[in-house]
Amino acid sequence: MKFYNTLSRNKDEFQPLDGKTVRMYSCGPTVYNYAHIGNMRTYVFMDLLTRGLKFTGYKVKSIMNITDVGHLLSDADDGEDKMEKAAKAQQKTPFELAEYYSGVFFEDLKKLNILRPNATPKATDHIKEMIHDVEVLIEKGYGYELADGIYFDIMKLPHYGQLSNIDLEEQIAGARVEVHNGKRHPADFAIWKKAEKEHIMQWESPWGMGYPGWHIECTTMSNKYLGQKFDIHSGGVDHIPIHHENEIAQSEGLYGVNPANFWLHGEFMLVDGGKMSKSLGNTYTITQLQDRGYDPMEFRYFCLNAHYRKKLNFTFETLDSAKVSYNRLLTTLQQHKASAVKTSEEVLAKYLAEFTNAITDDLNAPKGLGILYTMTKEAKSVDIYNLAQKFDEVFGISLDRLPAKEEVVVPGEVQKLAEERFAARNAKEWAKSDEIRAEIEALGFAVKDVAGGFEITTK
Ligand code: AMP
Ligand code: ZN
Repeated sequence: MKFYNTLSRNKDEFQPLDGKTVRMYSCGPTVYNYAHIGNMRTYVFMDLLTRGLKFTGYKVKSIMNITDVGHLLSDADDGEDKMEKAAKAQQKTPFELAEYYSGVFFEDLKKLNILRPNATPKATDHIKEMIHDVEVLIEKGYGYELADGIYFDIMKLPHYGQLSNIDLEEQIAGARVEVHNGKRHPADFAIWKKAEKEHIMQWESPWGMGYPGWHIECTTMSNKYLGQKFDIHSGGVDHIPIHHENEIAQSEGLYGVNPANFWLHGEFMLVDGGKMSKSLGNTYTITQLQDRGYDPMEFRYFCLNAHYRKKLNFTFETLDSAKVSYNRLLTTLQQHKASAVKTSEEVLAKYLAEFTNAITDDLNAPKGLGILYTMTKEAKSVDIYNLAQKFDEVFGISLDRLPAKEEVVVPGEVQKLAEERFAARNAKEWAKSDEIRAEIEALGFAVKDVAGGFEITTK
């Protein structure tokens, strides 16, 4: 199996450290709001990764954290805590918010057939361990105290910035990280923040009341559940330059190691070619897609049509075409299922080998779908249907389902005729009713009487 490793900037051959069980950590949601379809694309990517590994024969121990404190509005440790700000706006406590939005998040995972990670630890359940890690970082000379918190001294590390190839000199000059009074280097980051009085979430610490920085959460929890060194760390591409860089720095400070052998990152979803953002009003949730008549499986299928390292542009037109091809695929597979004809072992083995090659080559799901399509063009056979179900262990798009019933778009003219026929029928004008029915049929539609009304279908 090969993966593109952000750390080496290469497609590297993958082997789990212990030879059989892959230990994997993925950055999970900050639960202050509904996850949008862009976020969900990233979780579909992480699920594809888990499923791809399992398909290849590995056991997977997968951990995804829930960030319920400490993720500030700006990645440069400025601004309010996202949880606190949203809680104020919604007149709830941050704890109520976390409870509600993580519940919705788990529902979304289920709707999208995303396998539940082995554990989904919450940051607020690990405050003690985080305080301990901050203490160790101070002891080892990596952490220093300022008026508003404890900061990590990145210049103590010889290669801070290796994941994103950050030029630290450029950073000092540029505005990517705002300069903060007293920080030794502008890119030094908070590992612990001292809480102002009105900050709701705060805990006792050796430095007074406060709360953890976002990056230390992932370092503490990944170490607790997976150990100092594990196999894969995944996240969205936006995590590369700060969050993941800082996780590496903390682990190097604490244990002298980069925590993960492989760093995998999923590209962003765009909407209408541009950035997805609440202020532009172009974010949608899975529930909102359902309200518009789309099935979550159609969205997942849509995601799988792009490689995880390519940007994916969302429009309702492209989702519509995904919906049509997904349902056509289901229809064809049902025809295969109904056939008792056999397909030769060689042909089946050839498709399985091609599919395996695509998936083990940096999770090439679009290529895998292409192979599935070619395979469904073979003579109808239940063997093809069964092999498609095996492929679905990776795709997770419920290929055993019946296709969605096609929605009939009824032209106004046909609707009017059907209403006239219904009136004629109620008036017992049978000849007229039959005449109108014939007119409706001539237009390609059929009308059926049902309890209390009528139903129009295509002929
Ligand atoms: P957050 O809850 O803001 O921490 O984000 C959750 C996950 O969604 C992170 O892994 C981000 O990398 C990812 N993400 C945010 N926006 C997008 C997007 N437009 N497309 C894909 N992933 C995204
Ligand atoms: Zn993280």
